[in-house]
Amino acid sequence: MATAAQAKAETGTHVDVLIVGAGISGIGSAYHLQEQCPDKSYVILEMKETFGGTWETHKYPGVRSDSDLYTFGYRFKPWVGAPIASADEILKYMGEVIEENAIDQHIRYGHRINSCSWSSEDNLWTVRATRQSDGADVTFTCNFLWMCQGYYNHETPYVPDWPGMDNYKGRFVHAQLWDPEMDYTGKRVLVIGSGATAATVIPAFAEKAEHVTMLQRSPTYFFCSENKNELADRLREIGIDEPTIHRVVRAQIMYDQDAMTKRCQTEPDAVFEELKALIRHYAGEDFEFEPHFTPKYRVWQQRLAFCPEGDVFKAAVEGKLTVVTDTIDTFTEKGVRTSSGEEIEADIIVAATGFRLSVLGDIPFEVDGKAVDWHDTINYRGMMFTGVPNLLWVFGYFRASWTLRVDMLGDFVCKLLNHMDELGAKRVDVALREEDKDMEILPWIEEDNFNPNYLMRDLDKLPRRGNKPEWRHNQDYWAEREQIPAIDLDAEEFVYDGMRRANVVETREAG
Ligand SMILES: Cc1cc2nc3c(=O)[nH]c(=O)nc-3n(C[C@H](O)[C@H](O)[C@H](O)COP(=O)(O)OP(=O)(O)OC[C@H]3O[C@@H](n4cnc5c(N)ncnc54)[C@H](O)[C@@H]3O)c2cc1C
Repeated sequence: MATAAQAKAETGTHVDVLIVGAGISGIGSAYHLQEQCPDKSYVILEMKETFGGTWETHKYPGVRSDSDLYTFGYRFKPWVGAPIASADEILKYMGEVIEENAIDQHIRYGHRINSCSWSSEDNLWTVRATRQSDGADVTFTCNFLWMCQGYYNHETPYVPDWPGMDNYKGRFVHAQLWDPEMDYTGKRVLVIGSGATAATVIPAFAEKAEHVTMLQRSPTYFFCSENKNELADRLREIGIDEPTIHRVVRAQIMYDQDAMTKRCQTEPDAVFEELKALIRHYAGEDFEFEPHFTPKYRVWQQRLAFCPEGDVFKAAVEGKLTVVTDTIDTFTEKGVRTSSGEEIEADIIVAATGFRLSVLGDIPFEVDGKAVDWHDTINYRGMMFTGVPNLLWVFGYFRASWTLRVDMLGDFVCKLLNHMDELGAKRVDVALREEDKDMEILPWIEEDNFNPNYLMRDLDKLPRRGNKPEWRHNQDYWAEREQIPAIDLDAEEFVYDGMRRANVVETREAG
């Protein structure tokens, strides 16, 4: 529950902690702060008029998770439904978390942050925002910034600059900007793209459209399964309480995913054969995988597209979906002409071409009057940055549920804030150690490990990394769940008020 100190925080005043964004990361972070640092005052600034972030922005037909909600849900709030959930179900779940924990009173909706400036003299962040209701400029100061703004621009999606787009006379829309009022009954719909969004939207379109065509540049891996968890259903049947079911089912899913991830690396061909067998279960033994369903990259280098009940493949075998693997030569009046000369006619073209990366919300940051270029910084375990004090960035997992990292970093921030209080420290930095002097500095993304296009397109906007565990963002939940709780906050890479504790501790021990 919120404490009096937390309830007091008002617009325009000072707070201990300022959380940016009321998506699933911001709400989870607020919960952990309330639980583990009950005396800290805080606000959440959110530019939208409501919570939910991703789950509020996307309104295309069929929008749903592609992770199971036992692990995408928070550790502290049991998920009680089917594993794959619609956006509405996720919003309802988040709404309950907000209400049950009185988080609402801390959220300032309709506040778009325009700048964040750190002053070393005051050991404070100044955060400037526009209040959308009246256009007023409002200023907050805080000791610690908890950046939960997600990773993409919610207003402007990524649309490639295809030739001839102006020629097209039908309706063109990016999935991220889909208007739920749009009627596609009896229409010919062309979906450009093949990732998770395309996998979600295609079966939904196929129900009412005359026909759906998916035009993909290259194929994606699909994982087909029923939308149920047998263990959860069985435990419920025998009367086990929901918190226990949540804990046990999370453990089961994470165990299975761990085994799967390892096998993807050691025996990718066998894993692909198993994925194919699951598809055949829904699409029939004769289903043809070449050329549209045989990806070029290794399984797991990008997120697997989940396909509940094999719905994409059922649409294909029922003749409602045609897949074309090709590139676009040009848009035409009636649709799109591919590089191999085929013209695909469509009444509606939906671009499922992904996101426009937004690093730290594209907010201009300054430290002591000097603009921060994130590419000049080196990241500490994908959460803090050299040269930028008192700030933590929540960037979740892609191969496992994003939210697993929200809970984990929630514990970390609270431990760090409590440690600073014990030390009486006002400022914490991460800084390279003596042993890191000659460390190779590399791009943030390890292309061999994980390489989604929207990150690869904008590598120069992202922070960089070193080749040691402390300075990498490894995207590996199963390693981090051991490493992050075990972080020694007095280790040499942490600098409090300009001093390395490691040196102080060593000197004291030597004396
Ligand atoms: C359609 C879709 C489906 C997905 N499905 C899954 C899934 O099944 N499993 C999974 O693990 N991941 C999934 N993801 C990834 C997903 O984005 C994350 O899992 C998660 O929802 C991100 O939450 P977040 O709170 O970190 O960021 P967001 O949801 O992006 O929320 C960030 C919030 O910060 C606010 N904000 C940003 N900038 C500012 C600013 N300057 N001032 C004020 N407020 C600001 C935004 O308005 C937004 O509300 C999916 C993504 C999409 C797009």
